[in-house]
Amino acid sequence: MRYCRKCVYPDTRPEQVFDEEGVCDACRSAEKKCSDIDWQKRREELIKTLRQYKNEEGTWWDCIIPVSGGKNSCYQAYKMKYEYGMNPLLVNFIPCEMTDIGNRNLLFLRDLGFDIIQVGANRKIYREMSRKGFFDLGDCCWPEHIGLFTTPFKVAIQYNIPLIVYGENSQFEYGGPQSWREKNTLNRNWLEQFQMLGCRISDLIDEGVDKKDLLMFQYPSEEELKRVGVTAVFLGYYVFWDNKTQAEEMIKIGFEVNPDGPCEGGYFNFENLDCKWIGGLHDYMKFLKYGYGRATDQLCNEIRLGRLERDKALRLAKELEGKLPKKYHQDYLQFIRCTEKEYRDNLDKFTNKKIFKTYKNGNLVKDENGDVIKIDYGY
Ligand SMILES: [Zn+2]
Repeated sequence: MRYCRKCVYPDTRPEQVFDEEGVCDACRSAEKKCSDIDWQKRREELIKTLRQYKNEEGTWWDCIIPVSGGKNSCYQAYKMKYEYGMNPLLVNFIPCEMTDIGNRNLLFLRDLGFDIIQVGANRKIYREMSRKGFFDLGDCCWPEHIGLFTTPFKVAIQYNIPLIVYGENSQFEYGGPQSWREKNTLNRNWLEQFQMLGCRISDLIDEGVDKKDLLMFQYPSEEELKRVGVTAVFLGYYVFWDNKTQAEEMIKIGFEVNPDGPCEGGYFNFENLDCKWIGGLHDYMKFLKYGYGRATDQLCNEIRLGRLERDKALRLAKELEGKLPKKYHQDYLQFIRCTEKEYRDNLDKFTNKKIFKTYKNGNLVKDENGDVIKIDYGY
């Protein structure tokens, strides 16, 4: 396992590219972001684009903003309405089990003057998809990752609102294939490449799931998209993206953060608040598969923006990540109807034995808390 020389990303991260100097592509993107990109020009481009969609008469909403109630998608909504004068309709894809804070942050958005549509997929299929995600794909939040991207497109078509505004371009901010890093739009190919984990919705139908149960997770047809002229853009292409500063701006006006401090496995207290499993179990499984979790993503951003030393970040990552999630553990077992033993065995199955210490017989070495131990923490 090798770490980027500038930040603390390991080379086990999927699609990560290190250059000949041992620096990851997310760090190279950050250099561009901080010095090469003309943000004033990008802002003008955005204003020009928005002008095409703006409903000057005030007779209808003029863009859709997908919001979770957890991360700072609130910022997107706020900026679009109060800085760019748009009239957004917010779309919230309800996670498996929303947290109280997630709900309160949606109320906060409505108090700020936003209309919102909440879309809740049926929980029977949600359970089946979360089980498939957990047991077969190593991602308990698989249904959310799909629904977050299919439902705003569905609402765009139903409500005849062609513009959808997403937040950061994660391939630019966190690294990914060159062809997607510089993009300002996303589409079906993007969804299939980054959110589906190599599995198609049609595979579920082949496995016996009723087609009718999957309607919320189906991306609209090309014909429907064309009829309305749907375009989805990343706001992060047009404005300098800085999660922390943006969150601070929202906290000042009433956005609620996690009262216990950083979310399980994270460094920040303002991300992944909306869903009971995303902050804990989802990020923990990522740690088992690739040897790094959400705290690393957040710490890397802090390094790239010059707010944190690399050495300190390595130590913080070790301290914050890789601990069995506790907060909503029993809720998850109940939700997917599985025993503690099945749960633990499945976590071991997804643990990458090249990254974690094992005994000679191949079994994982665990500490007194039952947590696995990385071979190399980078220092
Ligand atoms: Zn890096």
